[in-house]
This record gives sequence, C-alpha cells and structure tokens, in this order.
Amino acid sequence: MLHYIDVILPIPLENRFTYSITEAESGFLSIGMRVSIPFGKSKIYTGIVASIHQVKPLIYEAKQIHQILDETPIVTEMQLQLWQWIAKYYMCTEGEVMRAALPNAFLLESETIISKNNAIVLNETDLKDDEYLIYEALQRQSSLKIQDIANILDKKNVLPVVKRLVEKEAIILNEEIYDKYKPKYVRYVKLTEDYTTPESLNQLLEALSSRAKKQRDVVMTLFSISAKTKKPVKVSDLVAESKTTSATVKALVDKGILEDYHIQTDRVVYDGEENEASKALNEFQTEALQQIKTTFKTQNVVLLHGITSSGKTEVYVKLIEEVIAKGQQVLYLLPEIALTTQLVTRLQNYFGEQVAVFHSKYSAHERVEVYNQVLNNSAKAKIVLGARSSIFLPFKDLGLIIVDEEHESSFKQFDPAPRYHARDVSVVLASLFKAKTLLGSATPSIESYFNAQENKYGLVEINRRYNNVQLPDIELVDIKDKQKRKKMKGHFSDRLIEEMTEAIADGHQIILFQNRRGYSPIVECNTCGHSPQCPNCDVSLTYHQFRKQLRCHYCGYNSAMLIKCMACGTPGLDSKGFGTEQIESEVRLLFPTLKVGRMDLDTTRGKFGYEKIITAFEQQEIDVLVGTQMLTKGLDFRNVKLVGIMNADNMLNFPDFRAHERSFQLMLQVSGRAGRTNKQGKVLIQTYNPYHKILQQVSINDYAGMFKEQLEERYNYKYPPYYRLIKITLKHRDYNKVDMAADWLAKSLTQLFKHNVLGPEFPPISRIRNQYHKNILIKVPQGQPLGKTKEAIKKVNTSFAAIGGFKGVRVIINVDNY
Ligand code: ADP
Ligand code: ZN
Repeated sequence: MLHYIDVILPIPLENRFTYSITEAESGFLSIGMRVSIPFGKSKIYTGIVASIHQVKPLIYEAKQIHQILDETPIVTEMQLQLWQWIAKYYMCTEGEVMRAALPNAFLLESETIISKNNAIVLNETDLKDDEYLIYEALQRQSSLKIQDIANILDKKNVLPVVKRLVEKEAIILNEEIYDKYKPKYVRYVKLTEDYTTPESLNQLLEALSSRAKKQRDVVMTLFSISAKTKKPVKVSDLVAESKTTSATVKALVDKGILEDYHIQTDRVVYDGEENEASKALNEFQTEALQQIKTTFKTQNVVLLHGITSSGKTEVYVKLIEEVIAKGQQVLYLLPEIALTTQLVTRLQNYFGEQVAVFHSKYSAHERVEVYNQVLNNSAKAKIVLGARSSIFLPFKDLGLIIVDEEHESSFKQFDPAPRYHARDVSVVLASLFKAKTLLGSATPSIESYFNAQENKYGLVEINRRYNNVQLPDIELVDIKDKQKRKKMKGHFSDRLIEEMTEAIADGHQIILFQNRRGYSPIVECNTCGHSPQCPNCDVSLTYHQFRKQLRCHYCGYNSAMLIKCMACGTPGLDSKGFGTEQIESEVRLLFPTLKVGRMDLDTTRGKFGYEKIITAFEQQEIDVLVGTQMLTKGLDFRNVKLVGIMNADNMLNFPDFRAHERSFQLMLQVSGRAGRTNKQGKVLIQTYNPYHKILQQVSINDYAGMFKEQLEERYNYKYPPYYRLIKITLKHRDYNKVDMAADWLAKSLTQLFKHNVLGPEFPPISRIRNQYHKNILIKVPQGQPLGKTKEAIKKVNTSFAAIGGFKGVRVIINVDNY
C-alpha cells in the first residue's frame, strides 16, 4: 500500500503539499512531527506533518520526503487547529502561521545560515564525526549555508546533523545572541526608626561625638544630604561626601543606627529563593475575585474593568494559584513593552520557577527551551508570561488565559502575516481547551466593553484604588488663553511650572508626556516656505537636535541638519511643532539643577535601553522623565506625584476612527502613573481645546460617558463594534500601477459589497520606502456572513492576481484592522 502525508511548509502556499512515505516511515510518523522535504528544483524545507493518509495526489507526482526529524510530535493537534483557524480568519496561509508560530531554530531550510555559537565552550569529543566536520569548518569560516554543509558532508540529507548541532548549542541560526538584563545593584542608607525624632538624633550625635568622631561625621553628612535633596541616599555618595570608608557605614549599620536597603529590591533577578505567599486581598478585590469565579460558571470570557492601581494583578495571582493547583497551565499575556522585570519578578516571587517568560528579546535557545517546557507540560512553565506571540506555544492542558492591558493596540500584529490580534485569538485558543479567558484593563477597548454589555462576556469592576489611594486630580490647562496672557514659557504653562516646582520641593518625581519624538516634526524655510521631505517617503523630516539631523520616522532616512534652505538658499529655517527632545531641552533650561531623562524610541533602542531608563528612574537618579506612550505601559513608579501631558490636541486630531478612544486610554493610563502611594497625585493636561468632550471625560475619569458617546459615533459612521473592517492595501513602486490596480480591485469589490466598500484612497502618507500605497476598506455589517465575505474577497483577489498588467503589485489583507 502507498502512504502519503500532507505537509505544511513555512511559505505562503495556498494548500498543504502531499509527499509519499514508505511503509516503515508510516509506522513511525505521527501528526505534528517535522520532516525535511525537497521543494521545487533545489530547495529544502522543514515541514510539519498535518495528516497521514493513502490518497494519491491527482495533479502532481508526490515526491519522497528526505527524512523524519523528530521522534515525537513538536506541534500538537490543538495547535494545528488553531493555525487553521487563524489562516482562515485572518486570510493568510497556514505556512505563514507556521513561520510565526515556531521558534526559528525549528525551521531548518536551504536558506538557513548557521554560525558557531561562541557563547559556550564545547567539548569537541561530544561531537559525532559529521558534526565535528561542520563545527571545524565554522572555525575557519564565519557562516555556512545548508548547501555548503551538503558539500562538506557530500550528502543531501543534512538537516538532521544541523538539528543535532543546534540542540548541542554548538551553532546558532540566522540570529544574534541576546543577553539577559540584570539591573544594577545600588545600596541606599537611612537612619533607623529609632533616630528619626530630633531629640533622639541629638542624643545620638552627642553619644558619638566623644568616642566615634568618624561615625558622627557620617551621621551628620547623611542628615544634611537628605535635608537638601529629600531623595534616597546612596551608600557610595555618603562615603564620598563624608570622606570616610564603607567600613564606618557598616559599623553604624551593625549598631542599628543606620539601615541599608535597596529601592525596589524585588527587581533583582529571581534567585530561586523561597516563594512569598500571595497577598491577602482587600474587600473589593475579594468581591471581584468571587464575581469572576461565579461568572466563569456561565461565561467563557470575563472582562475585569479595574481602575489603575486597583490591584488587578493580585486578583490574577489568586486565579492563577487555583488553576495551577489543578495541574493546568496558565498563559498571561501582556504587551511586549509592559513585560518588564518589574512584573516578571513580582510573579516569580509568588510562583518561583513555575514562571516562564516568552519574549522576542530572548535568545533562540531560550525560546526553544520555553517551547519545549510548555510542550511537556513541565513544572517549569506552568505559567507563561509572554507577549502576543506566546499564543502560539504548544499548550497541553491550558486552564486560563489572562490578557492584561487588553485595550492595547500592540496585541495586533501588522506585518508580516498572520495579521492576528492576540486578544481575539486568545479567546479561540481558550475555547479549544474549554478554558477561561480573563481580559483586564483600566480602560477597556470599546469592543470588549461592548461585548460585555451585550452579555457575550461577563463584566466585573473594581472602582477603588488599593489602599484607598485617591485617583489623581486632573486639571485642564487652556494654553490658548495662557498664550494670550503671556503665561507660557516655551511649551510650559505657568501652572505646569508651579506644580513642577512644588513636586520637586517635596522630593517627588515628574513624568512629562509628549506623543512625538525628536525635536520638531516640521522644519520650514522662513522665506519660501519650503520644508525638507524624505526622498523615499511622502513625509516631512523630523528635526533631531541632539544628533543635528533630519530623520524620517518611516524609513529611517537621515541627513545632516541644513544650514540654509535647499530651495531658495536663504539661511533661517524655522521649526514647527515639538517632540520629546524639545521638551527635554526646555526642562533643562527651566530647571537647570534637575536631572532629566527621556524615554522614546530613540533612547531605548539599545539592548537594554528601556530597562536602564526605568531602573534609573526607579532609583531616583532621574527627577523628570520625558517620554512618549512608552511611559503608559503598566509601570509602577512609587515616587511620581505629577504627570504633565504637554499637548493633548495632536492625539485627539489624529485621522482615525479610534483616535478619541485611544486618546482617552492613553491619557488615563499616563495619569495612572501619578500618586500610586499614599499621596494624591496631580495631572495637568495642556490643550488648546479644554472643552473637548474627551478631555472632559478624562478629567473626571468618566469611562462610561466616553463609551456611550463613542459607541453612538461608531454606530452612526458604521465602524466596529457594529461593523467589521477588512482593509486591503496595495503597494508598488509605480504610482500609476498602484492607482489602476486599486481602481480595478475596488470596482470589482463594489459590485459585490456595494456602498460598504470605501475608497480606493491614498492614505495621508501615500509613499513609504519608495512604495506607493492605496487603501480599500470593506465594512462588513452584522448579519453578513463573515466566512462567505472573505471567500468572495479571495476570489476577486485571485482574478486580480491573474491580470498581467498588475504583476508585482502587493495586496495586503488586514482583517479587523483595529
Ligand atoms: P493594577 O494592576 O490594578 O494597576 P496592581 O496590582 O499593580 O494594580 O496594584 C497596585 C499596587 O498595590 C501594587 O504595588 C500592589 O503591590 C499593591 N497591592 C494591590 N493589592 C494588594 C493587596 N491585596 N495587599 C497588598 N498590596 C497590594
Ligand atoms: Zn522615509
């Protein structure tokens, strides 16, 4: 009898491909194993066995596989079901999903480039002969392709050897190696409780004056530094200023006069110590937990709407405890950037080694390790804390998915396909396991809140901050009025300067939010009005003062800042608008003694740029942190009392149907960074338009009001959640070609969907990296079957692809273009 397998290849093919296998192979193979297979004239790929059968393909002669690469499946049947769902729903191929789903190290293929792993020292006697030949070649050559290896070993089937070398960590694939971030260890010192009153301090100084002069100096210095700066005092600073040694400080610590400590010691990397018991919940958290559990009896998805700092995380912890006690797995999803050491350590303190972290910044090897632990349902990965791609892990017995900050748009992948939304896929993934999904946010997305209102999801709310800390007081500052009355210094109103002065005097820290990086987004000639444009994209170049450069934020193009206008040659270029860099320089001018830090794409690019800035701010080495929306993501800074939003208007005026919802979420999330401990925080929002309804709603934390109004608009203008959106983008270097192609496609789609097709339209930025873009938007009303709609679009797309004149035009389909 003849045996066949259908294989998913990691390339965008419409169909699975059938290969023939031998009788013996059919006895050994099971679904979910990897096979190495020939494809086309000379390519080799790693494929996944999706089915095993005896049906000969009709159209082509099935080739034989090269080799079986696994002894047991590495992909579960549940994963295959999920891949199929994703491919169908998001209109892409299973191969594209496969590529996104598996760690790179699993996908050996003819294009793979390997190099020696210099990070580990290998005992060469551990290598078999063929492995050694390759390893040796890599000592002489920095990298090899699979074809080179085939030549060295003089055989075709080389993937198994390469795979063994990967497993032995002798080689790495296509990738750089990442290191893990370890925060700097800083020691601080303060007087112990006993000596905080003036009397006791006097007594102490007297006692020390005769016998221990050096110790007395230390105490005096400590006293004067803290009075001056009101900030934690580093041991190193104290030693330097009092001109003593750390031994003297230690003597005082030993005597119980001084106490040393670390700020946020829980940031130190988990060291395998005893776990901490989870916190006892307060009455509001307990109530919420009870409601969640009750609601889960009848609902698969619950939305937890809890204001910032209401203690949602501690509620999640209780649920996680229950699920892992049953031996099940938990997936805890967060936006990539919110996956900070802060949160990871917090969970590791409770759950120790059972927490595994899955993050794109981790090395290939670490990702493979987590993948395998999840696959084996290992005790080391009971709780996976991960960014959006962790929905692709091979769960065996998933009991709960938590999607924290569920409103975050970064859960949606834009490029490449699959263009999935991790929150929405989570719900599907959980249902495959008959597991539950908990969505959490202080500012839920309109979609999720709508689903809760419609009873599709359960809804649980916490309206109190933990410890009854008050929500910050939010004040709107009318900068039009301030300008008229000459109360502005640069981009700072007198109110903001007052509040900043006060916060600093009290020893607090400040966050300033400006949703644009660089110095100013537009540079313009005073004489002729010309403004320099990116040669590759249809945008003005942003001025970056620190590097004295003009940069394009879409393609990375940059040039030195011009001294005179390129068009008319007159010196005198003006800048318009402002970004984080400009705010940073203004703070330095207004408050020359303060330490200013900046957190945006430009300062966080390096390996640990982001972590470094967070740590510095936590350790109060920075007084004022200026930043973009990176600041909003789940950070818990204890000492921040004031948040300034420099300009609310450009967010609100962004041309997108979600601009108002997003602005509301962003402003409330940044505001939530203020006053997270006992003292009430203060937020100042500067705007030209203080009567804007969104700003009014933000100022009184009126989520319900915002929701109601936005929902009405969505209804009137036919947007989600009432209509689903499918966006089609066409791209090509040739303007006319894109233009004609989009017209053709839009016309054909309009025949099918009538007035529910919008466009084709050139977007505001219609050329990026020398590619012209044109968009078509399809609105799918409730009640119109989604599956059929997508099939119809696919058919049109197939006819489109067959037209010679449109060859080379890329068509990108984005379903639920949230
Ligand atoms: P959210 O996730 O809602 O913003 P968090 O869970 O981060 O809130 O809680 C805010 C702060 O309150 C954290 O510092 C947390 O440690 C503390 N906290 C929350 N609940 C408790 C509790 N039950 N006992 C002690 N501290 C708590
Ligand atoms: Zn550009």
